[in-house]
Amino acid sequence: MRVLSWNINGIRRILGNYKSCEEFVRGLEADIVCFQETKAFKSALGASQVSFDTFQSYWSFCHSNRSYSGVCVYSKETPLAVEEGLSGGYTTFSVSIPQLSDEDKLKPLANIHSYNQETLLGQNYHPDFTNVKQLDTEGRALCLDYGMFVLINVYCPAEGDESRVKFKKSFHELLFERIRILKEGGRQIILLGDINIAHRAIDHCDGLELTRTDIGKMEFETKYTRQWMDKLVSDDNSPLVDIMRLFHPTREGMFTCWNQLINARPSNYGTRIDYVLITPGLIPWVKEADIAPSVYNSDHCPVFIDLHDSIPDPHDDTKVLHLKDYLSKPKGAALPPLCASNWDEFNGKQTSLSSFFQPGIKKISPSRSLSRSTTPKNHRDQPQIESFFQPRGRTNSGDHNNPANPTKKQKVDNDKTIKSAWKALMAPKRVPKCKVHNEDCREYTVNKPGPNKGKKFWLCSRNVGPGYDAGGSKRNRADVDSRYRCNFFVWSSHLERDMSGIEDYKSDKQ
Ligand SMILES: [Zn+2]
Repeated sequence: MRVLSWNINGIRRILGNYKSCEEFVRGLEADIVCFQETKAFKSALGASQVSFDTFQSYWSFCHSNRSYSGVCVYSKETPLAVEEGLSGGYTTFSVSIPQLSDEDKLKPLANIHSYNQETLLGQNYHPDFTNVKQLDTEGRALCLDYGMFVLINVYCPAEGDESRVKFKKSFHELLFERIRILKEGGRQIILLGDINIAHRAIDHCDGLELTRTDIGKMEFETKYTRQWMDKLVSDDNSPLVDIMRLFHPTREGMFTCWNQLINARPSNYGTRIDYVLITPGLIPWVKEADIAPSVYNSDHCPVFIDLHDSIPDPHDDTKVLHLKDYLSKPKGAALPPLCASNWDEFNGKQTSLSSFFQPGIKKISPSRSLSRSTTPKNHRDQPQIESFFQPRGRTNSGDHNNPANPTKKQKVDNDKTIKSAWKALMAPKRVPKCKVHNEDCREYTVNKPGPNKGKKFWLCSRNVGPGYDAGGSKRNRADVDSRYRCNFFVWSSHLERDMSGIEDYKSDKQ
């Protein structure tokens, strides 16, 4: 059985690359598929996207105004119970212990079931968050109780500005406490997702460079997030094990995330911030734990564990334990309330939505289909190419009664302008060469929202790598490695101005 985690960086965006959601999820060849950063709202999802064939799904959406984050789980196995968030503030499940009998599976374990905010938060919780539920408002976690283990799919907050530090620290502590309490209650746990922390130097593309000096090493290792991660997986009393590292203890470049803005993936200049962390009791079940860097379409790649179908009983070598026995749900038990197939939109209580999402049919909004049936807009509404190049304050209507009717000289000039403008537009793009390597550059577009969004620019075409020239303020000149990208930069608009056909026109006149 494969359990897979992937930060997909927007489900609507990524589905654009696939025929259907089913094709997308099935293609991952996993039995439990956990996504982070779905960036979706419930209203934007259709029936064919939340349940199909053997998969059911569970979602946590962002409840605040922030439109990012969101996590979901597609599962072939039916969990005993599902909970949104980490605090139990939204929905609380009856936590069961890993029993074998169907009857016992659903029995709540009193000491866990009765936890409250005080016991959950312990001593470490940040006092600024008086309401723990607040930490669950961004759609960052789902807890699924599969009986044999509790699976927690999490999207931890990223490095943010100062205003987010308290939120981030409190989220971490809440996650840790939830795991500690579950484990003390005798539960096995699989925590997976985008933890947003590159734990060790080996997990970071600049790890060697950053830890070369004693001071650098100290700064790297004592960073709050890394110390939290130590507490989670590396201390003697840690509840979890970094199973991917356990299977591949010395593998370098085992990265799961790459900066798209600097095109860092081709040279594998990345970080390992996506993890599968498990309680030691599950280790005998794990056949493989790895990353899937050949899967594209996001700035992250999937990570996964494969579980054995059966293992020898550690307590009685005459017996064999079967995974199916531990995961099967009691017959006749209902799907957990949080299951997407229980949503009003899809269970018959509200059917209007689903008709827009039939498989293979592109969603067409009623307003758009209406406008299609009306007369197409007049072509004159479209800007004509010449209009961009008309000299200001002059018309070219050709109207004989117009006092501004152009003279013959003006008309020739005007024709020349249009001709040269066309020439500039149709001319092959001039590719600038970078100064350090004297090699052809590559053109990029600004994606970041802001005044420059959509603007094009050229960069050195070499790959980024350790010591690439990110600019004087980012790296010491002495540390620059000239085998990688140099700091050449030019806006495309600046370049076009130098070579535009208008220059030809000017020289014609002289
Ligand atoms: Zn260069």
